[in-house]
Amino acid sequence: METRIERIKKQLHSSSYKLTPQREATVRVLLENEEDHLSAEDVYLLVKETSPEIGLATVYRTLELLTELKIVDKINFGDGVSRYDLRQEGAAHFHHHLVCIECGAVDEIQEDLLEDVEAVVEARWNFIIKDHRLTFHGICHRCKDKAEVVEKNA
Ligand SMILES: [Zn+2]
Ligand SMILES: [Zn+2]
Repeated sequence: METRIERIKKQLHSSSYKLTPQREATVRVLLENEEDHLSAEDVYLLVKETSPEIGLATVYRTLELLTELKIVDKINFGDGVSRYDLRQEGAAHFHHHLVCIECGAVDEIQEDLLEDVEAVVEARWNFIIKDHRLTFHGICHRCKDKAEVVEKNA
């Protein structure tokens, strides 16, 4: 945790930004809830628990700055809400998401898996790929298991 904060601090410094206490409080919430995909509102409510003096506008500006510096990625799963997701350290590409249409759970795939597809796109469209977003919509293994249990008992 502390070493990751140190590294994020350095990333900010190299772009001439400071890790102010407000920014640090926001970064801590993102690190503590790394598994989640929090909206600006969610982050704000969590930041407020430890730093009640921070306003939503400050949290929002910090999230935008972190997005600009590619420390977090902004994602949208089609519900109209922007969510903020910490980038995996050292990852060349953004991880993929599995969004369950039954329970709303969001699982992550850290493996890239797209090397072959990217090679085709780069060759055929003469396009240099820098990143990608991939979201699968479907039924998660938990909901699938539940449905199978119901079926067996029917
Ligand atoms: Zn994610
Ligand atoms: Zn599910």
